[in-house]
Amino acid sequence: MRYPMEPYRIKVIESIADTTPDERRRILEEAGFNLFAVSADKVTIDLLTDSGTSAMSDRQWAGLMVGDESYAGSRNYYHFEETVREIFGYKYVIPAHQGRVAENLLFSTVVGKGSFVPNNIHFDTTRANVEHNFGRAVDCVIDAALHPTADHPFKGNMDLRKLEALIRERGAENIPLCLMTITNNSGGGQPVSMENIKSTRKLLDQYNIPLYFDACRFAENCYFIKKREAGYENRSMLSIAREIFSYGDGCTMSAKKDGLVNIGGFLCSNNHDLATSITNLLILVEGFPTYGGLAGRDLEAIAIGLKEVLDERYLESRISQVRCLGEELDSRGVPILKPPGGHAIYLDARAFLPHIPQEQFPAQALACALYLEGGIRGVEIGGLMFGHKDPATGKEVFPELEMVRLAVPRRVYTSAHIEFVAETICSVFRDRDAIRGYEIVYEAPVLRHFTARMRPIDG
Ligand SMILES: *Cc1c(COP(=O)(O)O)cnc(C)c1O
Repeated sequence: MRYPMEPYRIKVIESIADTTPDERRRILEEAGFNLFAVSADKVTIDLLTDSGTSAMSDRQWAGLMVGDESYAGSRNYYHFEETVREIFGYKYVIPAHQGRVAENLLFSTVVGKGSFVPNNIHFDTTRANVEHNFGRAVDCVIDAALHPTADHPFKGNMDLRKLEALIRERGAENIPLCLMTITNNSGGGQPVSMENIKSTRKLLDQYNIPLYFDACRFAENCYFIKKREAGYENRSMLSIAREIFSYGDGCTMSAKKDGLVNIGGFLCSNNHDLATSITNLLILVEGFPTYGGLAGRDLEAIAIGLKEVLDERYLESRISQVRCLGEELDSRGVPILKPPGGHAIYLDARAFLPHIPQEQFPAQALACALYLEGGIRGVEIGGLMFGHKDPATGKEVFPELEMVRLAVPRRVYTSAHIEFVAETICSVFRDRDAIRGYEIVYEAPVLRHFTARMRPIDG
């Protein structure tokens, strides 16, 4: 497995747990075979999420020390605002303590009963915030995105026919804004092309509907555009980012992803009246507009992180690391979602464990097997997370896909770690016939995957 070397070296280290297979078996049993209940101290390689798990640079740590914790007018806010304006280009910049608060502020202001909000695919918190405000969240992604192995360079693209059909059916006056998630997290971290962004904008212009970006992984999306879209080969990351955002009216952002920080987010808009209402709401729920639920030092770390994330050498090593993990697994016959996205590899658990029926949670079985084998923690995205009882029949309804997502934190793991992950998965794959299914012993009424307790089915 070879990919471009990391354009940084290590100055601070954090020890990794050393557990034996017997200990891991006991830990998993105590956790009710639910990896959310396993203490992070007992995880060897943690691929649960890429959110808030980035390693900060020496410059960002230095930035924390020049934090100005004044209630109003902190110098770090001005640095943050200037940086966000330089990259995103929007007039109004509103800090928040994470992405979902930015969503909440935006949707509680513009979405109401009878509203429809299209997106390529809504991320869970985005959908939840639209629906909490009595709007309907509608996914309009291209069909290729829904096929696990369909090869397409921009599998995150919006399907303009679906979008236009929605506008015609529901009426432009009921669509307060259209979102575009870059990269498309819930669709496997797949990018959106500039061409598609431009065409989406053009279509929305005909109906006077604003376009907002869910920009969490914007830099990763810029990198894919440079590598895959004609005409962008020689463009800088910053100029690609500026072009993307020039087609929008604003954005929401979780800095826990491409802000390269552990906490933070923001909302941008060009709309003065909207920004004013949101700022008033911000003061009520998050804090004064020059800190928005964050410390001055956090804003400084975001300002620095947003610049670092646009370093092309960093993006090259980041995206290549994820891609190489995917290619290595694919070349050894392990079924994955293709092509690899920007931040994670998804194992196709139904193809991996064809002998386990969906009622026995194959993706959960696979996630547990990876932990038992090598202490690797991924996340089940399948029947445990999305399955539910049909209120009419009382029967369990299962989602289309059973996946284990392995999200790669930014700047955290080296190529030896990634090789260890690949080896562990391949060794589980060799012995896959011995893996058994699971049943639920306890489940909460909502969001059961976080707290469910399971047990292996004898057989
Ligand atoms: C993480 C994420 C969010 C929510 O951000 P938080 O900081 O976790 O609240 C919204 N949209 C997308 C696409 C995300 O990946």
